[in-house]
Amino acid sequence: MIPASFDYIRATSLAHAIGLLQTDPDGSKLVAGGHTLIPTLKLRLASPALLIDIGGISELKGIEVADRVRIGALTTHAELLASEPLRKLLPIFYQAADLIADPQVRNRGTIGGSLANADPAADWPAVSIALHAELELAGPAGRRHVAAKDFFVDIMTTALGHDEVLVAIHIPYPNTGAQFRYRKIRHPASGYAVVGVAVALRLQDGLVSEAAIGITGATGRAFAADSASAHLNGKPLSSQNIANAALLACEQAECLSDGYASADYRKHLLRTEIIRALTSLTNA
Ligand SMILES: Cc1cc2nc3c(=O)[nH]c(=O)nc-3n(C[C@H](O)[C@H](O)[C@H](O)COP(=O)(O)OP(=O)(O)OC[C@H]3O[C@@H](n4cnc5c(N)ncnc54)[C@H](O)[C@@H]3O)c2cc1C
Repeated sequence: MIPASFDYIRATSLAHAIGLLQTDPDGSKLVAGGHTLIPTLKLRLASPALLIDIGGISELKGIEVADRVRIGALTTHAELLASEPLRKLLPIFYQAADLIADPQVRNRGTIGGSLANADPAADWPAVSIALHAELELAGPAGRRHVAAKDFFVDIMTTALGHDEVLVAIHIPYPNTGAQFRYRKIRHPASGYAVVGVAVALRLQDGLVSEAAIGITGATGRAFAADSASAHLNGKPLSSQNIANAALLACEQAECLSDGYASADYRKHLLRTEIIRALTSLTNA
């Protein structure tokens, strides 16, 4: 449990961090909260020659809730849990952060680290997909925005280039009446999602006018359950429509299998959690 030796530099600015990444893209790693990276180094699953600490870069910090919502990549789970303006506008951040691990992990782990790491069982990928978030990336060629639904490519693989930094998460201001729900089946040891479901939904005159569902835990990467969302649009949120939507999402999911949950069991949990999440919004 002792990492291989590495150099350590605390980046003083975003440009500094990108410059350092460029000098050795394969041999350097950014470190934010370190709650995934440090165990990975200790297990020698990675042995970068250089760790670039981005913890002091002010541009990566802070939660802005105004006519737009911007969350800096270095924002910790605990900060997301504690933000009253965010809880008022987008309570799904509170709901999800409250289910992440334990206070120690929540105090150190960052939303940017979670998204960049793309663990298939992490919570924020599903939330960012359901909220139609855009992820702001900065690299040597400048800035670009990637929709959350396109960001997660495979297990632990994202659209981030080797020399890019995730700067912030941008979320469109929700329409009046939008409702949100995050539910998950927690792994009993880590708290990670065996299955996690994020829903953003709006009802108008008894019919669904907007629906977006993000799924994590079930498959190798978080995904948007588009066929389920499309099925709900324009319909009442009846138990039959909810059940149909849950089945459509399950059809889209090639579920993972591991020692804790088989693929069939995960699929069962996915269906159940989607039904529970949507049903909880019918009476909200
Ligand atoms: C015991 C335990 C339980 C956990 N339970 C949960 C849980 O229930 N749910 C959950 O979602 N997560 C869980 N986590 C994960 C944790 O919450 C963190 O989100 C995760 O460790 C990554 O965030 P970090 O800031 O620690 O990133 P780091 O460990 O510092 O970095 C992770 C990876 O992301 C890269 N990276 C970090 N920041 C950026 C950036 N801004 N731009 C580009 N790349 C970047 C790093 O180079 C590295 O490859 C758990 C972790 C532990 C140790």
